[in-house]
Formats: sequence, C-alpha cells, structure tokens
Amino acid sequence: MDSALPKGIWFAIVAAVGVSMLGIHYSMKSADEVPTEEPVGEVADDVMKGEPVRVVLDPGHGGGDGGTVVFSLLEKELALDISMRVRRALERDGIRAVMTRQGDRDVELAERVELGRKHPGVPFVSIHLNRYKSASVRGAEVYVMDGKPVPLPVVKGYDGQKMGGSELHWTSGNSANQGFFDRRSTTLGTQILAAMTDGGDLENRGVRQRKLFVVEHAPPPSVLVECGYLSNPGEARKFSKAAFREKVAQNIAKGIGSYLEEAEKNPTYGFTRDSTLGEAVLTIK
Ligand SMILES: [Zn+2]
Repeated sequence: MDSALPKGIWFAIVAAVGVSMLGIHYSMKSADEVPTEEPVGEVADDVMKGEPVRVVLDPGHGGGDGGTVVFSLLEKELALDISMRVRRALERDGIRAVMTRQGDRDVELAERVELGRKHPGVPFVSIHLNRYKSASVRGAEVYVMDGKPVPLPVVKGYDGQKMGGSELHWTSGNSANQGFFDRRSTTLGTQILAAMTDGGDLENRGVRQRKLFVVEHAPPPSVLVECGYLSNPGEARKFSKAAFREKVAQNIAKGIGSYLEEAEKNPTYGFTRDSTLGEAVLTIK
C-alpha cells in the first residue's frame, strides 16, 4: 500500500483497532457468561417432581461449544430444542426425565455422565446433529458401546439397582461367570431408531458401536442419537422447522417409551447369553 503515513503510525493504528475489537469481543463474552442458578439435572418447572426419574436426556454441546454449524443452524440450539420437546412428550406419557442442561451453557462430559450415574439403569439419551464432508449423506444413526461380557458377580449387583422391586440374580452351571452380555444400549438404540425412521421422515443408518465418552461412561442403557445431517441441504431445511423437530422428538420419546415398557416389566430385557456355554438359568428374586 502506498501511503503518506510512516510505517510506525500504520502499525499503531492497526494495533489500536485490534485492541478495541478484542475489548468488544471480551465484554460480549463476559456478558454471555453470567452464571445461571440452574443446577445440572434439576428442572425449574419439573411438573413431575417426586416421581422416579426414568430417563436422563443429554442435549449435546452448549455454551462455548456450539457443535456443528451449518448455514445458520447451530447444533447446540437444535439439540436443546429437540431434547426439551422429547422431555415434554415423555411427560405427556407420565414419564419423568431430567436433563444435563436446559439452557445455553457449558457442561463438561464428566458432568453429563455423572447425572447418568445418579440414575443407573435408566435410559441415558444424548441428542446431537451430524455433519459430513459429503452433502449427500443423510439420515439418523445411534451410537452405543455395549455387548461386553457381564460376569456373574457384576450382574448380581449390577449398578446396585433394583428393578420392579426385585434384584437380578443369575444362576447356572459351571460357566456361570461367562456368556452373559449386556446389550441394553443396542436394544434401546434400536427402539429409538425404529420409531424415528418408521414413517420415512429419516433414513435409518443403523445402531453403531463407537467409543464415545458419554456412551462409554454413562451406565447402560446409554445411547447417542445423531438425529440427522445438517450438511445435507434437504435435512438442514427440515430441521430448521419446529414442526419437524417436534415430530422427531415425539418419535424419540416413543422409542424410549417402548424400551421402558419392556425393560420395566422384564429386568433381563437387553441381556443376552451365549448359548454355546451350556445350560444356564436366570432367576429373579
Ligand atoms: Zn454433536
């Protein structure tokens, strides 16, 4: 640039503008970070207080972590919106859910998992939206981390939970400690995905095993639902509409409801056994 001003003056101007912009940014950021009174997992307008918690909902991201951003759509906002709708749909069916966040705030992954640990054995459902480099990819998928063998001593005191007033006990022959698998997360994920995709609104991309922090560390059944791809223009348009998000949320709630209906009357729902290991008997005392 050909200028009458000496280089030193230009530098001073650029530096001054830079500092003032930083100042504006800083003050905007601190205004955003006013701490809320809302504790994790507690619901200010919890209409079902006193009822047992039967679902933990985990809207992905929040606060300084926006998640996926495509066009003007922010994953953290859509995930929260859908999660709140899921909670309301569950409440209409008499099912109480707590949430890891209800506002636009930072929540550590460990904090999310901690709320799950407070409610072992109940579905932990993390809600996200996806993106991919190829715009043609679309549909819903669910991530889980299960199928691990469950040795007898672990099953016996599993999560310390009591289900339907009775504890879970496994008895069998010689191979008592082997051959049992906890597939409750896959079972829950399959129910949710079926409900989301049955009407043809979303493609079913399957329940997949992936080592993601929340599904690995929150007690089973724990799933991470990727509702759809914001990088797909058609799907982005759909998710920008409240009516579509409501429909998706109702379907997620329906899937959770179907799982609960089975799991709450049958404590062995979602557990499988390798039949090659001989005769085994499951008793519930
Ligand atoms: Zn996400």
